[in-house]
Amino acid sequence: MHDTRAPAVEPNAAIAALPAYNAGLSIAQARRVSGRDEIAALASNENPYGASPAVADALARLNVARYSDPSCAALRAALGAQLGVAVDRIVCGNGSEELIAALSRAYLGPGDVALTVAPCFGLHEIEPLAAGARVVKAPMTADYGFDVDRLVVEIAKGPKIAFVSSPWNPVGAALDAAELKRVVDAVPHGTLLVLDEAYFELIDDTHPDGLAFLKAREDLAWVVLRTFSKAYGLAGLRVGYGVAADAEIARLMRAALTPFNVNAAAQAAACAALSDVAWMKDATARIRRDRATLDARLKAMGLKIAPSQTNFLFVNVARDAAAIAQALLARGVIVKPWKEKGYETFLRVSIGAAAENERFADELEALLNA
Ligand SMILES: *Cc1c(COP(=O)(O)O)cnc(C)c1O
Repeated sequence: MHDTRAPAVEPNAAIAALPAYNAGLSIAQARRVSGRDEIAALASNENPYGASPAVADALARLNVARYSDPSCAALRAALGAQLGVAVDRIVCGNGSEELIAALSRAYLGPGDVALTVAPCFGLHEIEPLAAGARVVKAPMTADYGFDVDRLVVEIAKGPKIAFVSSPWNPVGAALDAAELKRVVDAVPHGTLLVLDEAYFELIDDTHPDGLAFLKAREDLAWVVLRTFSKAYGLAGLRVGYGVAADAEIARLMRAALTPFNVNAAAQAAACAALSDVAWMKDATARIRRDRATLDARLKAMGLKIAPSQTNFLFVNVARDAAAIAQALLARGVIVKPWKEKGYETFLRVSIGAAAENERFADELEALLNA
């Protein structure tokens, strides 16, 4: 067959050079590769218990012939009431990932610097790069925590945006109150602090609510991002939100989004999920309990793990993690091997149902002892 490629058109150089997002394999792909029917999907930090039954009821009542509400009025009203913030400071996204893209698009361009941590959540690097910005990373400490000293130095240099996830994907650690205060106090005028709290609902109550802390800081530019994908079990519907320090930041985020960015099913489902916080709290309590069980088991195997305040563990397998992940996949267990330079011996494993976690630990133990 002859080559059917279209003639080359010069692309946007920043987009053409982007690294691919390291997404977890789908269950269908894993079935094909492993030849097994039962798959333990532990790569994407999803909630093994799913969403509140109120979500299915809301979806059954949906009129899909109507466009979704571009202002997400009902969802923003519910969030505003729950969080105690004015609705003009809340922006909803097709997942909070879309808000990371919107912030990058709204604030970054060639010549700008975005700061994040290493290892980092992929989109905290990819979206700034897509906007033509340069990315600087503050690496984790030898004991798998935030290097707050380094972070404070880098923030004080005045990057345009600082993306910090706390609890930290992929490491699992969270900033304590004193550390959060040091980070926030370092933010100079001209820098937007984006505190990504995708795992907020999973933190121990010894740790601060970043939004509650930042609400008192009207002197600074900040956005807190949260999502319905993790604790609320709605990853497949794609809905997250950002709360901004003021309405102007929210307006700029909104301007960088497409008009009907959050579909009607996602809006209805998120409202229903918010009406049943008890369901989410029950799921997160089970996940935290099962996390402790898996953490103890892996530590007994001699593995080094960061203290986690999330629904995953970042495990140093002390050898090529991609090869281990491949071998686990052949046994029907999907995990995420970290591919970022310097962290290639780490696996990130999500906390699934108890039996899935055990299966992962059994298979990993067999592989490490082989
Ligand atoms: C999962 C995750 C998100 C994105 O979640 P959405 O599904 O797009 O809402 C954002 N930030 C971090 C740190 C995450 O782990």
